Amino acid sequence: MGSDTMHPRVDAIVREARAAVLAARTAADLEQIRVRFLGRQGALTQLLRSLGTLSPEERPRVGAAANEAKRELEQLLEARQAEAVEAERRAQRERERPDLTLPGRRPPAGAVHPLTRVQDEIVEIFAGLGFSVAEGPEIETDYYNFEALNFPVDHPARDMQDTFFLPGALLLRTHTSPVQIRTMQAERPPVRVICPGRVYRRDADITHSPMFNQVEGLAVDRQTSMADLKATLELFAREMFGARSRIRFRPSFFPFTEPSAEVDVLCFLCGGEGCRVCKQSGWLEILGSGMVHPGVLRNVGYDPEEVIGWAFGMGIERIAMLKYGIDDIRLFFENDVRFLRQFA
Ligand SMILES: [Zn+2]
Repeated sequence: MGSDTMHPRVDAIVREARAAVLAARTAADLEQIRVRFLGRQGALTQLLRSLGTLSPEERPRVGAAANEAKRELEQLLEARQAEAVEAERRAQRERERPDLTLPGRRPPAGAVHPLTRVQDEIVEIFAGLGFSVAEGPEIETDYYNFEALNFPVDHPARDMQDTFFLPGALLLRTHTSPVQIRTMQAERPPVRVICPGRVYRRDADITHSPMFNQVEGLAVDRQTSMADLKATLELFAREMFGARSRIRFRPSFFPFTEPSAEVDVLCFLCGGEGCRVCKQSGWLEILGSGMVHPGVLRNVGYDPEEVIGWAFGMGIERIAMLKYGIDDIRLFFENDVRFLRQFA
């Protein structure tokens, strides 16, 4: 602001305003100063308004001085306001500047589903024994699901499998055995395949699901025997459930194998002592098996006089439930992350 106006009232206001502007820290402070001196009730405004009360000689001198002071104060405030706004922007940019030394946000990682993990483990064990993986359709014909597997029409064994029938004489496969038929139709012995996949049965409670997963295995060769089947499953049990694992065969019935056997594994929770999971028996039923029925071999064009085979099948959910101590099969399909996270 310029030199003194030689009018004491204007000079006093100008000194006060200048001091206030110098002390101001923020744009808000400056706005308050503008209101205090230049606002409708401001000191300089009041002075200009009171010019009429001055003598005619004084009036032009004070008026000119006050107007000059007003203009200069406006310019000073405008300049300081712009500086203050810029300083505040700079400070804000400084506060908001990203800290490049902070660690990044970790994206949530998924995990392999427990059923997939168990299936992979089973497949890997049999792959190590020379089995290759075979897959087939989930919608099947009666022929592949039943007839070729030695379930004649009206055979009571069909009632053992609560089938979902579809229009057009189709059905949802009740086991992965149709894949064995399709494989044998396509290949000549020796055959060694493992067939993992989804199967469907009309059954639902805490240990049964209308959709579940099976793994079946099939070996057909000129020379093999039930002893090879047993040795293979013993090795599987040791790999799957631990080196001290043992298995036992119990006679059973399946239309597609003869003889047939249920296979139990020594309870790996109590070591055979008896516990809640093995229902005090010391054994856990884990799979079905047997020598391929000669009728099944004939159905795929093999000569039962020349080749012999064995097969086995197990439910992946059952193995996973035993392995991880899960007592409700529905947990596998509800996709509750609190459950799934435990297998991460
Ligand atoms: Zn037990």
